[in-house]
Amino acid sequence: MTLLDYLASHLLAFVVVAGLLGLVVGSFLNVVIHRLPKMMERDWLQQAREMLQPEQPQTEQPVYNLILPHSHCPHCQTEIKPWQNLPLISYALLRGRCGSCRERISPRYPLVELLTAVLSIVVAWQFGFGWPAAGMLLLTWTLIALSLIDADTQLLPDAIVLPMLWLGLIANSFGLFTDMHSALWGAVFGYLSLWSVYWLFKLITGKEGMGFGDFKLLAMLGAWGGWQVLPLTILLSSLVGAILGIIILKTRGDSNSTPLPFGPYLAIAGWIAIIWGDWITGTYLRFAGF
Ligand SMILES: [Zn+2]
Repeated sequence: MTLLDYLASHLLAFVVVAGLLGLVVGSFLNVVIHRLPKMMERDWLQQAREMLQPEQPQTEQPVYNLILPHSHCPHCQTEIKPWQNLPLISYALLRGRCGSCRERISPRYPLVELLTAVLSIVVAWQFGFGWPAAGMLLLTWTLIALSLIDADTQLLPDAIVLPMLWLGLIANSFGLFTDMHSALWGAVFGYLSLWSVYWLFKLITGKEGMGFGDFKLLAMLGAWGGWQVLPLTILLSSLVGAILGIIILKTRGDSNSTPLPFGPYLAIAGWIAIIWGDWITGTYLRFAGF
């Protein structure tokens, strides 16, 4: 019996493996969340320089990508050794401080690792071993990265959203979560629904309520879950967004000068709608007496 056969017939073993995989992936997501926006900014600056000063010789930029340079302490610049980079364990062993200068390390790093592991366990448990679980794990990891990048920088990088939109359509051409027809119209209506809200809001208030990244994110969710997940996704994200938005504004205590990113709410709502959408809608309709 191969390992894959074993995982296919033992749900608990698959759940444990998914959790461990989630820890490792969470560690990598920390790097993506931290570096991808910086990489994009470097790219924009480079392009702007080339456009504005084409005759000036371009200075060589030091390498900066998802692999290089190796991670280092932001305080003392000491490179982090491989054993200090183990998810959760290293943070616990080092008691949340840098190995050389003892400066505090943000608890966000282990929290992202833990969150990724927990959500991976939920997906493995819900779907069991197979291609749908693999697809849903990938989507889950993507949504974690996108949510935190949006929360940090108000950006939803095309470099992640667009390939994942295509991948959702391709996956559903094999009927992974829904049929091709539903997936295609999910992408189209996902984009158009928020696009219309955006223009309506802008015409009425003269302000921009959300960014174009949000339209693409909902298109991506529609491509994965089909158009059927869109109503619940929009409803849940508005609900969660309104509740958390009020809490954040109250605790921050300032006027709403900085717009709150909508991406994380869309991501949370879409994730719930794709996994439990049928169940939620069914239960609601039963209670409503249909
Ligand atoms: Zn240090």
